[in-house]
Amino acid sequence: MAVRTDFKVEPLKFRIIFAVVLISALAVIWSAYVVGTNYVQESAIRSLKQLVQSETVILEDHLSRTLDVVASRLKFVAAFTNEQTLKDKRLRGDQLYELIQEDRVVRSLSLADDHGRIVASSNPRNVGVSIPLSELPDATIKGGSSAAVSFGNVFEHRDIFEINSDAPNNSGLRFWLVSMPVNVGGRIYHWIATVNVGLFENLWRRINDDPGTEIAVFDYQGKRISAQHSEVTAPTSGFGEELLKNASNADLGFFESKLNPNLLTAYRSSAEHPAILAVVGDKSHLIATLRGERNQAMFYAFTGSLVVVVLIAGLFRWYLSYEKSLTELANQITATGAHLMISESSRDGKILWANPLFLQTTGYDLSEIKGQNHRIFNSGLYPSGFYDDMWSLINRGEIWSGVFRNRNKEGEFFWVKTTVIPFLDPWKKVSRYVALYTDITEAILTSERVNHERSLRKELSKKNRELVVDANTDPLTGLPNRRAYEEFRKTAIKQARTNTQPISILMLDLDKFKDVNDTYGHAVGDQVLQEVAHRWSKKMRASDILARIGGEEFTVLLPQTTLAQAELVAEKFRDVISRTPITLDLGDGKLLTIDATVSIGLASTDRIINEAGLDMLMKQADDALYQAKRKGRNRVVPHSN
Ligand code: GH3
Ligand code: MG
Ligand code: MG
Repeated sequence: MAVRTDFKVEPLKFRIIFAVVLISALAVIWSAYVVGTNYVQESAIRSLKQLVQSETVILEDHLSRTLDVVASRLKFVAAFTNEQTLKDKRLRGDQLYELIQEDRVVRSLSLADDHGRIVASSNPRNVGVSIPLSELPDATIKGGSSAAVSFGNVFEHRDIFEINSDAPNNSGLRFWLVSMPVNVGGRIYHWIATVNVGLFENLWRRINDDPGTEIAVFDYQGKRISAQHSEVTAPTSGFGEELLKNASNADLGFFESKLNPNLLTAYRSSAEHPAILAVVGDKSHLIATLRGERNQAMFYAFTGSLVVVVLIAGLFRWYLSYEKSLTELANQITATGAHLMISESSRDGKILWANPLFLQTTGYDLSEIKGQNHRIFNSGLYPSGFYDDMWSLINRGEIWSGVFRNRNKEGEFFWVKTTVIPFLDPWKKVSRYVALYTDITEAILTSERVNHERSLRKELSKKNRELVVDANTDPLTGLPNRRAYEEFRKTAIKQARTNTQPISILMLDLDKFKDVNDTYGHAVGDQVLQEVAHRWSKKMRASDILARIGGEEFTVLLPQTTLAQAELVAEKFRDVISRTPITLDLGDGKLLTIDATVSIGLASTDRIINEAGLDMLMKQADDALYQAKRKGRNRVVPHSN
């Protein structure tokens, strides 16, 4: 017995879906890795450079605006204070202080003499402090961008320096200093404004949130004059020169330090402003941060893909077990093949497989029917609706059972009791059909033979019955004939003998019947005979017999009937003929009316013991009939001894 190993529910569809999903999952992991490692990292660094650069621009913008504010303030102060006031060295500190109160940029405003000693200040604590004015760059200072602008007798010179002297108690706060030399009658004084570094703090904090980035301000000599934190960019000797070198090439730039390969520097310098702003980032830190992000992205991609793979594996396992159970079922069905014919077909009715018993019964080889439609077995005896009903049931996933009359390869009929089982795929759609058949040809043929014989027998006995009836019946009138009458006589004699009952006989002969024939023809005579027989039949009792014993001669045997009773019967018989004329329809609307009469002789006895006795009685009745004719016909005459 063959064990099915090729039984697959949906071999291709399911496997293709699995493969596609699996490949997609692997592609996700792969691209996460590749893109994460190469592209993301590179492009992130690129975008970071842009960020650093744009931050520098913003910072520079702030500084520029701040310096502008300070410069305009200094101009205003210069205009506000007159020459006389300066000469008298009587600076109205309180007035200045009020001015500065309104100003959020300028922290303090002081006046220094040409030795740099602050002679007056809006912040009294500054008075007496010496500023190393000798260190102030002049117009020819390095970089050449320091502005020395003359307007009127006021000589404006701007530069920034970092000083700490304005900070209360070395609090660590740092200020920027802006100076403006003023020529008063040949003597140079300096207006010195200190600017609150805190103005930039918000901006810096944004950058400082990332400890890998810091902002620093360098002067024209490459000396760092301000920085947010120094852990990252611990001043590398020579970095200032490197920055200056780069800054001399372009106002806005970006470079990776040769001294410290870990430093990414974006800078901004301008002829307008006496400083170089640089944003410095720790490259390894930045990359590490990005790598962290990449790893995180990869982790999500990997876990997501892993979940997908696990789900698919689960689904595939489920599918395999589903298929295995179906294979087992198919094998169990196949195992019944010793007694059953089995075929298996695709969802569109093409034969995929059939067992040896099926092949033996149909007379085909498997190779001949494989791929063929089941229609090749059709006997052509069923209306198409028969198959439609069957298919609609099966396609709903239900089992169909019924009997087919099919044809084998030789064209001979065979009958199979059939059960069609649809197999469903994981989507509950019919994927194939397995049909089990029991060959019932022998049983059908036997029952057909039996039925045939049965119907033959039925027909025969019917014929026999008809023959019996024919033999005992007068064909013209349908009345019992002489033969039937003889039989009845025998029974009547037996009865009369045992019961000692009276019995009577009537002999009836139509009057002048020859004339009827002669006048209207034999056919009309026949119709008259039929009508007479019909009228008398209606008057008959069940226990009596009326028989036609000759041409127009009849007899009635009346068992258990006395002479008196018989006379009444006879009179009734005579009356029913003579009272109403017989009307015959001759066709074409022609009616013929015939007045018929009958003569009746009657005999009766109390007891009959044998046939001779009955013969005697008949003879007496006959005699009485003769008498009736003689007496003029249409009358009843009883026999008299
Ligand atoms: P009656 O008996 O009164 O003496 O006169 P009848 O003319 O009847 O005389 P009879 O009994 O001798 O004649 C019988 C006639 O009945 C003879 C025949 O023409 C006719 N006859 C007998 N058998 C048949 C039959 O089967 N069909 C027809 N149409 N006529 C029949
Ligand atoms: Mg007669
Ligand atoms: Mg007659």
